[in-house]
Amino acid sequence: MPKREKTPLPTTITETHAPVPEQSQNSQAEDSQFELQPSNVAGTRSGFAGILGRPNAGKSTLLNRLVGEKIAAVSNKPQTTRTRIQGIVTNPEGQIIFVDTPGIHKPGYKLNKRMMQAVQDTLATVDVVLLLRDASAPTGNGDRYVLNLVKEAARPTFLLLNKTDKLEDKSALLPLLEWYKAEYDFLEYIPLSALKGDNLNLLTRKILEHLPEGPYLFEEDALTDQTERTLVAELVREQLLNQLSEELPFATAVLTERWETQPNGVLKLSCVIYVERESQRAIVLGRGGDRIKQIATQARKNIEKMMETRVFLELFVKVQQHWRNDEKMLDLMGIETNQD
Ligand code: GDP
Ligand code: MG
Repeated sequence: MPKREKTPLPTTITETHAPVPEQSQNSQAEDSQFELQPSNVAGTRSGFAGILGRPNAGKSTLLNRLVGEKIAAVSNKPQTTRTRIQGIVTNPEGQIIFVDTPGIHKPGYKLNKRMMQAVQDTLATVDVVLLLRDASAPTGNGDRYVLNLVKEAARPTFLLLNKTDKLEDKSALLPLLEWYKAEYDFLEYIPLSALKGDNLNLLTRKILEHLPEGPYLFEEDALTDQTERTLVAELVREQLLNQLSEELPFATAVLTERWETQPNGVLKLSCVIYVERESQRAIVLGRGGDRIKQIATQARKNIEKMMETRVFLELFVKVQQHWRNDEKMLDLMGIETNQD
């Protein structure tokens, strides 16, 4: 399981401070029992920062890098991220809850509509919006579309120019900066490399400056809101994305169905891979089951690294027609509908 230092990571984040309004409703007597956290005394800052951008901009890479663990699947295919994933960064100055979002695109299936709703909700609710742009790619309609969403929302927003490691000549950033500056009054303009980690300390420092003063919102050692089951399913899905070509991965979904620690300490896991058609099932299995074996082997290695234990992973492939338009299946997969 991802953890920070030696403290085991809680699977689901627990709020150290129950919702503030509830506390203020407490009677005086109860108030006096409320222990101040050290972070309260030190005058920390805390809040939410939403990472938005086109597919492939590097949003999930940035989240993983900031948190220091792989909590979001990364691939070079668009639409890898389907839900809002929270990654938590805690330091003595405060706590930032980063919210990774699906890449912004035009929705077709109900799945995609829910994905775009997640983007809108994030835009509306976070303290700081981070617009992440691949600075190594030319400006396209997609970039204008994303910029328009940011303009319409009119929230405090940083412009982050990513993939600077791919730019031989850093002066290529200047016209891009000028263009964005003319379009919207961003709070900060930060070039960075999510992959290499360049400028990420500056990023966290600047975000903290713009967050409200307040205590840590989650446990100090919490890293994510994702359950272990979801993290496992995502590591399997990441291999589907990496090992299958083109369109097929978009028609797949993964659920962890069985989770059992055996007496010998081996963690036994079963995941079901959903596809939409029999022909897709055949592709995922591969000739003589070759493909699924490779997917399982690589996913198992990544799961073992994350869980720090030996893992036995079983994968099943099931056909579930039209799951991308099936509200029940989407609920089951935790792909949110209108939230909050
Ligand atoms: P998302 O769709 O915005 O979440 O993008 P991902 O995080 O899944 O990354 C898309 C692709 O861009 C992956 O192949 C990443 O390895 C790559 N990538 C992300 N950030 C960087 C970066 O700073 N530099 C380089 N060279 N590649 C990056
Ligand atoms: Mg992503």
